[in-house]
Amino acid sequence: MNTATPPTPRSVTATAPGKINVQLSVGARRPDGYHALTTVFLAVALHDTVTATLAAPGRTAVTVIGTDAQRVPTDATNLAVRAAQLLREHHGTDAGVALHITKRIPVAGGMAGGSADAAATLLACDALWNTRTPPAQLHALASELGSDVPFALLGHAALGQGRGEILADLPVIGPLHWVLAFAHSELATPAVYAEHDRLHALRPTDARPRPQPPADPALLAALKTGDATALGAALVNDLQTAALSLHPALAATLRIGAAAGALGSIVSGSGPTCAFLTTDTRAAQSVARALAASRAVRRVRTVDGPAQGAHLVPPRTRPTSGRT
Ligand code: ATP
Repeated sequence: MNTATPPTPRSVTATAPGKINVQLSVGARRPDGYHALTTVFLAVALHDTVTATLAAPGRTAVTVIGTDAQRVPTDATNLAVRAAQLLREHHGTDAGVALHITKRIPVAGGMAGGSADAAATLLACDALWNTRTPPAQLHALASELGSDVPFALLGHAALGQGRGEILADLPVIGPLHWVLAFAHSELATPAVYAEHDRLHALRPTDARPRPQPPADPALLAALKTGDATALGAALVNDLQTAALSLHPALAATLRIGAAAGALGSIVSGSGPTCAFLTTDTRAAQSVARALAASRAVRRVRTVDGPAQGAHLVPPRTRPTSGRT
């Protein structure tokens, strides 16, 4: 029997999906400044890829190519860099890494692309440095990095509570056929929450958010049975009014998708990406064509969900090009 340890790889690639919040219910602001959320995450087949290559001890470098690459920071604020540093500190190692990110998820688009890069980096560096972090610890590190990072690790569909980091798997029958409309501009998540708070402060006290909103049973049942019509009718995003207030052109985008036959139309997370649920691939293409003709939309993609969470990519199947 061969008991020799396999050679440590010089380079490891991992990929992680973007998400749509099919339910995003925002509760009261907590004493720590975060809002209590009840959200239903759905991972979709739009993935960023991170390749981690061994580098000099203590060093973390990052390069970025692909969609919106020029808008991604390449300093210590990059979420992938923060993920590598956190894992290094957790294990008390000085291992070095050069990260190469291929972006497909729009930047500051409400699809948690930075979180996907952080999740992929945790997995890639863990394999590269052979640090063998148990899944529960990886989850804890992920939630330190950001509210959406644990879901990027998990994928498929999940109920998120707390600030979105307390996850429970949800059964879902797919594929669900989505159309994504990327906007020309970005929306910063903190600005959207601030606008949400401003709009709510104008309401009477009894119409203000509950401490922890409930999950919608009709929406959970629709996911479980793969009933796209019922899911389309149940889509809800409490941040949508704030996103529309900051970015009024999104209202026209939502109308165009609905008029072209979408079963449901929603701003994804804090926006400005809009997501449209359709019956099948043909309907998705028809909605995509209608949206592509709108000047408010920068680019349109059709994607299926649910999608697998962050995972390592075996060397043989790695993409050879950064083009999207
Ligand atoms: P959120 O998860 O806050 O809803 P989002 O999905 O709207 O965010 P992201 O693409 O994750 O948007 O980026 C939010 C901001 O994070 C960007 O404006 C960018 O400056 C910064 N950022 C840091 N690291 C990354 C990364 N690896 N990819 C994209 N953006 C990053």
